[in-house]
Amino acid sequence: MATSEMADTWIPVGEGSPFPLSNLPFGVGHTGDGRRRAWVALGESAVDLDALARAGALGLVHAGWFDRWYLNGYLAAGPDVWGSVRWRLIDVLTDPTAEGRFAEHVVPRSWLTMGVPVAPTDYVDFYSSLHHATNLGRLFRPDGEALLPNWRHLPIGYHGRTATLVPDRTDIVRPHGVRPIDGEPTFGPTGMLDVELEVGTVVGAGSELGVPVDIADAGDHLYGMCLVNDWSARDIQAFEYQPLGPFCGKSFATSVSPWLVSFQALDACRIAPPTPEPAPADYLVAPADARPWGFDLHLEIWFDSAQMRADGRDPVRISECGFADMYWTPAQQLAHLTVNGACVTPGDLFASGTVSGPRPGSEGSLIELTRRGERPIELPDGTTRTFLEDGDRVELRGWAGDDDTTRFGLGSVTGTVVPARGAH
Ligand code: MN
Repeated sequence: MATSEMADTWIPVGEGSPFPLSNLPFGVGHTGDGRRRAWVALGESAVDLDALARAGALGLVHAGWFDRWYLNGYLAAGPDVWGSVRWRLIDVLTDPTAEGRFAEHVVPRSWLTMGVPVAPTDYVDFYSSLHHATNLGRLFRPDGEALLPNWRHLPIGYHGRTATLVPDRTDIVRPHGVRPIDGEPTFGPTGMLDVELEVGTVVGAGSELGVPVDIADAGDHLYGMCLVNDWSARDIQAFEYQPLGPFCGKSFATSVSPWLVSFQALDACRIAPPTPEPAPADYLVAPADARPWGFDLHLEIWFDSAQMRADGRDPVRISECGFADMYWTPAQQLAHLTVNGACVTPGDLFASGTVSGPRPGSEGSLIELTRRGERPIELPDGTTRTFLEDGDRVELRGWAGDDDTTRFGLGSVTGTVVPARGAH
């Protein structure tokens, strides 16, 4: 079979599209008919996976894989099935005789209202960027060591809230909480609403309770990646987080991008991650001959305000960074999460933690970009930002590849801040 990059599809794909044939990300959505089902993105189009499955074009497919509001059932089937469905899809989409049979199941992606592609039982937010952990440590604990002593020995994380994982374009209501005002703990709407640029890893096949997943077997369990915006209320977070970790400052909303990109597609941008120093425990060390679990992705944060949109101004990019030098990998995160016998289930989400680079302008949050508000960002409309104001809109973008011929993407995820509700 010709490689996917060389084959022509009967659905047009523009050069530079984030979703060429080599990508084939899956999502869930509806066209307004209320029938929620799974789709695969190709160029500016989406193809109805449920219809292809019912027509027998994807091989042996079980009921419940593609006719639901989440992909958990399909993800549970494991890598052999994912590979088989992927190759059958490539066959269908490159077979000119298939167009007549399946063209009615293709819609413009812009017609779709998308959901979160999985229904996770558990969501973990890790903290795996050395640059972010160092930056935030300096800001939260200016008089102490930036990096806490455990950080280089295991992937730090906390269990998050699955009920508030929200789809692309969900409005983010400014949360209330207790935060210090003039040194006094005071209840009110956050004044330090922030974003976190993160990459999510989604679990496919689950693991058995009581049995740690060997780091060498991570590929049997991990399905793919998406973008995650872990909205954060820094004033609430800073007051509440010790000793048990983030709670209300994080749990009000976490945006998840609609198109889930499989690791079979992401193989094209695998790269060796940094070598941890000092060497961690053996369960966190991948075999030397294993596929690497670093990914050479480029990530960006784009911003516009309500005023900028009213003035017809384009969004501005406020940060760009690379994912390749993340200190802890998804495989290490999985090995660590299960080392005590805890299990994972299909659709579980690990967020990477905020991705920040080493240079100014490569920080994945406003608290870092503005040094906790000391260096406001200047906007094209003449105003400035430290933290988010009502009406501000943030879009995260991510992709791999150096040019239009090799580029493929994670797509994007957007959210707009709306005023606090139910003030007391
Ligand atoms: Mn986070």
